[in-house]
Amino acid sequence: PFIITKACEGVCDTACVDVCPVDCIHPTKEEWPSKGYDPANLAGKQLYINPEECIDCGACEPACPVQAIFPEDEVPSDMVSYIEKNKAYYGL
Ligand code: SF4
Repeated sequence: PFIITKACEGVCDTACVDVCPVDCIHPTKEEWPSKGYDPANLAGKQLYINPEECIDCGACEPACPVQAIFPEDEVPSDMVSYIEKNKAYYGL
């Protein structure tokens, strides 16, 4: 799967959400209120890819304005913890 990393924190642009063909990136803006995401204060918040639903199409990677998304095997070494972080968001 693809992995969302540190650069997303505090940004949550959601361009990736819009291009994902299988809707496996959450929370969507519609979900923000129920997930505690405040558009006026996104500090510490990021988006997450469900690794069990991602089909590795790669569409999200170039859509991200802050280059936060990498294929799992290309995640920079200082951000490998985000592999587990994306899984954990989905209880995986
Ligand atoms: Fe969605 Fe494709 Fe990105 Fe996976 S690689 S999260 S399927 S856009």
